[in-house]
Amino acid sequence: MKELVNENIRNLIPYQVADLDYDVKLDANENPYHIPEILDGELKKELKEEIFKEFWNYYPDADATELREALAQKCGVAKENIIMGNGSDEIILNLMLTYLNGEKAVVIHPPTFSIYKIFAQVTNGKVKEVPLTEEFELDAEKMEAAAKESDSAITIITYPNNPTGNLFQEEAVEKIIKNAKGIVVIDEAYYEFAGKTFMDRIGKYKNLVILRTLSKAYGIAGLRVGYMVADVALVNEVNKVRLPYNLNKISQLVALKMVKNDDKFRPIIKEILEERDKMAVEVAKIEGLKMYKSDTNSIFFRTEKAEEIFAKMLENRILVRKFSGNMKDFIRISIGKKEDNMKVVEILKAVMQKQ
Ligand SMILES: *Cc1c(COP(=O)(O)O)cnc(C)c1O
Repeated sequence: MKELVNENIRNLIPYQVADLDYDVKLDANENPYHIPEILDGELKKELKEEIFKEFWNYYPDADATELREALAQKCGVAKENIIMGNGSDEIILNLMLTYLNGEKAVVIHPPTFSIYKIFAQVTNGKVKEVPLTEEFELDAEKMEAAAKESDSAITIITYPNNPTGNLFQEEAVEKIIKNAKGIVVIDEAYYEFAGKTFMDRIGKYKNLVILRTLSKAYGIAGLRVGYMVADVALVNEVNKVRLPYNLNKISQLVALKMVKNDDKFRPIIKEILEERDKMAVEVAKIEGLKMYKSDTNSIFFRTEKAEEIFAKMLENRILVRKFSGNMKDFIRISIGKKEDNMKVVEILKAVMQKQ
């Protein structure tokens, strides 16, 4: 039966999520705090009541109007500029379904978020890879040249990048948006940590798409809520591809609470950033680890003992992210709760000091 499967799917290596035993999850850049615990008890109670007041036998609001209105206000755009996704992952797929085919390409800058390449293959698009430099900076000239080619329908810039954690030079990115042949997607999954955005240029560039998620800073990865912001004409095309009712009632309801209470996340974001900077200093002191600057809620480093570090962390019931292929010497660790971060530093020291 395998020969019935489309060739692009048959040859696909699926996105892998670790299936391991652990207590502390620091592998996927999630917020270490469960949201209702951050927000006050009143909100927790209110949420519970509202969730059970909802009629689950009816479909949700197909356009997530209230949520889009709240987000539009925060982003300084109109709700017509916004599409919600079941995670921003779903929007990446919808963008590719809208713009790619066998003749058209997506331009990406590895090492970056692996979903882009997987979905390009799913939608049978071509992939043009413009690797980051040795220090993981954007190779801006090559990226721009690739984005300018006539078959480059989508260019994706991850700002800041994942897994490396760094922002790229703003002027270089804007030049790519300006000169690209196709649409340019700026994936701002870590915007709340990095504080830098291209949102104010939505009105200026008709080919610009900003991707955001509530999975990272806003701590609802488990509810799958992401969104894109773009020119209305572009939004209308991508909306033809979106599944009806793609955002369920509970996700819409909780996401709305989170967006309306985004000020309550500020102390948490501040704590995570302080912890990250503290860890960066501690980890940089350890011999044999090369740290990279992070603008996200994770640290990223190079080491010849990546395999050993991963194993030792797991032995201590901590899951971190390791990579394979030409990234096998790298580790990414999400910033967790204070006590867990301290434990991470201790384990790193122990592994690296062992001869
Ligand atoms: C985590 C992440 C996403 C996925 O976000 P979801 O909204 O949970 O699908 C998208 N892009 C980047 C760069 C990420 O790190």
